Amino acid sequence: MQSAADRREALKAVYEQARGCEKCPQLAATRTTVVFGAGNADADLMFVGEAPGANEDKQGLPFVGQAGKLLDKLLEEIGLQRSQVFIANVLKCRPPGNRDPRPNEIEACSDYLHRQVELIEPRVICTLGNFSTKLLRGDPTGISRLHGRAEVHTIGRRAVRLYPLYHPAAALYTPSMLETLRADFQRLPELLALPAPDQPGAIDEIPELEDALEAAAETDLAPEPDADQLGLFD
Ligand code: SF4
Repeated sequence: MQSAADRREALKAVYEQARGCEKCPQLAATRTTVVFGAGNADADLMFVGEAPGANEDKQGLPFVGQAGKLLDKLLEEIGLQRSQVFIANVLKCRPPGNRDPRPNEIEACSDYLHRQVELIEPRVICTLGNFSTKLLRGDPTGISRLHGRAEVHTIGRRAVRLYPLYHPAAALYTPSMLETLRADFQRLPELLALPAPDQPGAIDEIPELEDALEAAAETDLAPEPDADQLGLFD
């Protein structure tokens, strides 16, 4: 079993790979920066959104616009701060014009997300919106049917509770959705207080993510180190 410090160092190595990634030629050509994710590298709670927007692309950080402020507020309402959680996206690069992520891009980028989950070892992952919910559940069921229902899944070698939520960007402009998101958020402390999910064996596997992890192991990327951005991980 790796220590938290070892896992944090390994996460930095994944970040170094991702920041030079060109697996999606269009995204690599149009992005300003790779938005790998930020927060506590040993967090019990992780959030996974869709893809960086314009502000995130400029700053290199996830959820920094209005949706990010809403996420901060909802966290504050349950007694948490952003520095206590880890926030990432399905795609690490901004799709031009904020178009939807394409299936080939999601597949290409999923190995980074998978390795983030393995190294951070969260107990609960909130999937924000349809893209992350469908990817991590390995099922096309949409967020409107699933929000607020926690389920144990196996990702890599660990069992984790997935907790689908509406995406804050969608809830910003729809009061009823915002109230639902807030109500679902209020259950997070209760989920975090539950015992850790059982280890693999009796619950769903997500084989396509295992395949993606193998593909990532064969990826040869050698970006220049950037000491400043390593401060993304607390
Ligand atoms: S979206 Fe992911 S896989 Fe595609 S270029 Fe960016 S980091 Fe690489």
